Amino acid sequence: MTEFRNESPYPMVSIEEAQRCINALCAPLGVEKIASLYAAGRVLGESVSASEDVPDSPRSAMDGYAVRADDGVAERRVQGAITAGGDAAIVVTPGTAVRIMTGAPVPPGADAVIIVEQTEERDGVLRVHQSPWSGDNIHVVGQDIARGAEALAAGTVLGAPEIGLLATLGQTQARVYRRPRVAVLATGDEVVEPDAPHASGEVRDSNRYALLAAVREAGCDPISLGIVRDDVSLQRAAVLRGLAEADVLLTSGGVSMGSHDLIKPILAELGDVHFGRVAFKPGKPTTFATVNGKLVFGLPGYPVSSLVSFEVFVRPALRRLQGDTTPERPRVRVVLEEMIRPSRDRPEYQRVIVYWCEGWLVARSTGAQGSSRLLSLRGANGLLIAPPSEQPYPKGAELEAMLTGMIKPC
Ligand code: AMP
Ligand code: MG
Repeated sequence: MTEFRNESPYPMVSIEEAQRCINALCAPLGVEKIASLYAAGRVLGESVSASEDVPDSPRSAMDGYAVRADDGVAERRVQGAITAGGDAAIVVTPGTAVRIMTGAPVPPGADAVIIVEQTEERDGVLRVHQSPWSGDNIHVVGQDIARGAEALAAGTVLGAPEIGLLATLGQTQARVYRRPRVAVLATGDEVVEPDAPHASGEVRDSNRYALLAAVREAGCDPISLGIVRDDVSLQRAAVLRGLAEADVLLTSGGVSMGSHDLIKPILAELGDVHFGRVAFKPGKPTTFATVNGKLVFGLPGYPVSSLVSFEVFVRPALRRLQGDTTPERPRVRVVLEEMIRPSRDRPEYQRVIVYWCEGWLVARSTGAQGSSRLLSLRGANGLLIAPPSEQPYPKGAELEAMLTGMIKPC
């Protein structure tokens, strides 16, 4: 396992083949019931239908007077008032009206509400400025949600409106998909804790920190497995520990062609390596395996490669595992602000800032695109997908980009 090879035993797969292979192995984990107040960002595990009409009785949509439209502009005698939450006990007969507040039940006999601004009331007599139409300012039964209608589909990501909708239907608990537990292991003899004393030649472990943050952002529970040296038995033991504790394991480093790159052989020994090389940049040695039915991603050691590979392969898988039916980032067409140089032989995911300018989405490069330069990801809200080419893409060329954050203003 420690010899120096000059040819990878793993065939190079395309990005699409790699994604298809991962998707085929991503079934959502189980469902759990939690308080809806803590369910923001979680994915609904069941369809929710309305068991009653909302509203369940006709309500006034405005403050004003409940009237009969047929009375037209004739004066009406005001018989009393109904407030929200009150009883609609008074019957509106021809030539009468009832003062009504927003949200109050519409009394029997009334078929319209005239807003207070269009009326004058003096000595119990109501004058209206114009003739109302039947149905004016009345919120009819089932107008917001009809009984039996699906309010939320399984697979919906819950946000403020969805949690409000559940409450409207009387539900303060939600059945949501379980959050995947994702363990992250850093490998490398040179890799040290970021806050430890630092000798020349050592590399601070930025990958584990960045990946744990990315795991949390993807809606999962992160588990840190620390750093392990380039030693087969230590790495095997750490991999097994991660698989025992987590649903998914991510490793960083040790998947390239060096004599100390041990992750692929360990995964091959413990389970099935589905691919060990992908034709894309940065992150060619990205590896995907399953061990005892659990997903393992061997991410490259270079900090940018590990995070871009996470975006392209791991994040959608983690979203799928938690039931998200739209796990992919949106893709948009962008115009290049300046010329860019692509890779000659592989699609390259270049880090860009996508902004909106005069009707166009424009992509600005974050600068030098080296795989060790985390500054190329700082502030980036997009990954520009540059197909391989011998020629640069000129300023103004249109390419596709994956949006990883909010579009910026001009
Ligand atoms: P490897 O994939 O193990 O060959 O590592 C490739 C490069 O990434 C080397 O320069 C490593 O020092 C660096 N690297 C590996 N692991 C980490 C890490 N956890 N944090 C930051 N850089 C790393
Ligand atoms: Mg290494």
